[in-house]
Amino acid sequence: LLRADGSVASTIFAEMSALAMRTGALNLGQGFPDEDGPAEVLEAAREAIATGANQYPPGLGILDLREAICEHQHRFYGLDIDPATQVVVTAGATEALAAALLAFVEGADDEVVVFEPYYDSYAACVALSGATLRTVPLRFPDFQPDLDELASVVNERTRIILVNNPHNPTGAVLERAVLEEVIRLAHMHNAIIVTDEVYEHLTFGVAHTPVATLPGGWERTLTISSAGKTFRTTGWKIGWFTGPAELVTAALTVKQYLTYVNGSPFQPAIAVGLRLPDTFFAGVRADMAHKKDLLGTGLRAAGLAVSEPRGSYFTVADAASLGATDADEFCRGPLAEAGVVGIPITAFVSPARRAEYATLVRFAACKRVEVLDEAVKRLRTLR
Ligand code: PMP
Ligand code: GLN
Repeated sequence: LLRADGSVASTIFAEMSALAMRTGALNLGQGFPDEDGPAEVLEAAREAIATGANQYPPGLGILDLREAICEHQHRFYGLDIDPATQVVVTAGATEALAAALLAFVEGADDEVVVFEPYYDSYAACVALSGATLRTVPLRFPDFQPDLDELASVVNERTRIILVNNPHNPTGAVLERAVLEEVIRLAHMHNAIIVTDEVYEHLTFGVAHTPVATLPGGWERTLTISSAGKTFRTTGWKIGWFTGPAELVTAALTVKQYLTYVNGSPFQPAIAVGLRLPDTFFAGVRADMAHKKDLLGTGLRAAGLAVSEPRGSYFTVADAASLGATDADEFCRGPLAEAGVVGIPITAFVSPARRAEYATLVRFAACKRVEVLDEAVKRLRTLR
């Protein structure tokens, strides 16, 4: 986590957002929406502050939110979850991931298997846990893993198979056969599945399938999600994990000493959000589908080879089609000069595999249509 000279490295998101601020470039780097979420949710938080929800909430999260999470899991996935023992509210999905890794991993003999490229906190948290990171590559442009490669990496030392679906940074939605193979391997090697499904409501043309709904999935899976993406409240940091009581209790044991609790006025507000009608959730999906289409069309018009995302905020483009040999240089040079910020995919891969991903760039579509239209105009100047 330190640079070679001992200084603390900032995250790629902070660095690239600073570049956008400094240069006035449009920030399609860091994945956060530039518009507020539903008025009912914002109003519920104001109301909660005004009526005194300003002290520590209960350690598991307020009952109303835990019930709303269980209702949501039932409504969308048919899962029956006990709000008393099978769900805990966390400081975003990030804390849930940290708690799960620290709870289930003992030390360096334990391995955590992750699809690569991966969201940046995964490798950092695996390092904090002391475990060894093993990765399975997802390759441009469809980013589905090879099942034999996956099977060759999971073994008796594997403690956790960490899945992220829909996937950041690639925009992939993992095929059902991949999730089934993850479950088969977890059973075979007595591993736990931790699945990060923060983009569960952002899939395009495919339904989201939680690992916990597949045969054999529930009993060894801790499922993580977050309110940030669905309700455009990334700064509120309300997340949660659900699963069998033994797994939930183990992760809670760690979580209580990480933050203890968080976000008391935001918890009732997210409960309101989770109970919004189906039309709200359909709207979230349709809005993002439209935006990723605008972005994809613009990137292609700029001469870039582009992946076809089936979920999340993100689209991956290959800058090699514009003659670039290094995406990091491309992002800091020609792309920023054209007035757009993207993130080199090498920020999401392990050192050993950087060369394989050297020319790929991640773009976030979770911005206002005017911003995307202007970005598309600027991208055209790259040709
Ligand atoms: N997991 C993934 C895959 C993400 O993309 C993000 C953030 N964008 C997170 C976890 C973190 O979520 P939170 O802000 O709820 O901690
Ligand atoms: N998850 C968001 C992204 O991938 C940003 C998260 C962060 O800034 N740490 O862009």
